[in-house]
Amino acid sequence: MVDPAASTTASRPPAGRREPRPAAVEPCPECGALLGRGYPRCAICHAAVERYWRADWAALLAAEGIAPGSADERLLAEVVVAELERHPWTVVDYALTLLRCPECGAEWGGGPPACAACAMAFGNLWAPGLEAGATMNEHALRVGRWVARHPHRHSATVVAGWRLSLPLLLAGALPTTAEAQRINAWLKAGGDAADLAGPRTFAAIAAHARRDGAPR
Ligand SMILES: [Zn+2]
Ligand SMILES: [Zn+2]
Repeated sequence: MVDPAASTTASRPPAGRREPRPAAVEPCPECGALLGRGYPRCAICHAAVERYWRADWAALLAAEGIAPGSADERLLAEVVVAELERHPWTVVDYALTLLRCPECGAEWGGGPPACAACAMAFGNLWAPGLEAGATMNEHALRVGRWVARHPHRHSATVVAGWRLSLPLLLAGALPTTAEAQRINAWLKAGGDAADLAGPRTFAAIAAHARRDGAPR
């Protein structure tokens, strides 16, 4: 019988910290972009991002004595989503990736913007308490994963900004407010994110955006 509540009270490392982060921002050996930027299409970038979520989910499966890929795993995912405030963000996010939306049939929370069931699932992800103990970097990495995973739910500018940020967030960096605003303004003004493929710090990306002025 599935009893995920038992493991929520057991001592465990904070969500998303079972695997080490990359020590530096480096290119992906598979797609050549900075590691993480190819998420979710490139297999190596996908694994580089997803490993933090997967590790926490695997620990929950182990604690419950449930085999990956089993019918019980799916049942566990349903239980987690039904009582998501009792679980950390990595576990809730991962549970949704295992389930299909009852209304539109897409990955739950990732269907077309018009799907009410997906909108509700996505909205519930940001309930207070779900990210208890998370750092701002971890919150940003979480948002970046959702946006890159389901880009059709967001504007092209928003998607470009988060894709640009993912490799840096993965390595633990966080833009200052001024840097984030500068980069977003530049993208909104028509700046091509491909021009910013090289810089490996938010300061360098923002500096490029500043030098470039407002394109078009
Ligand atoms: Zn890649
Ligand atoms: Zn849906």
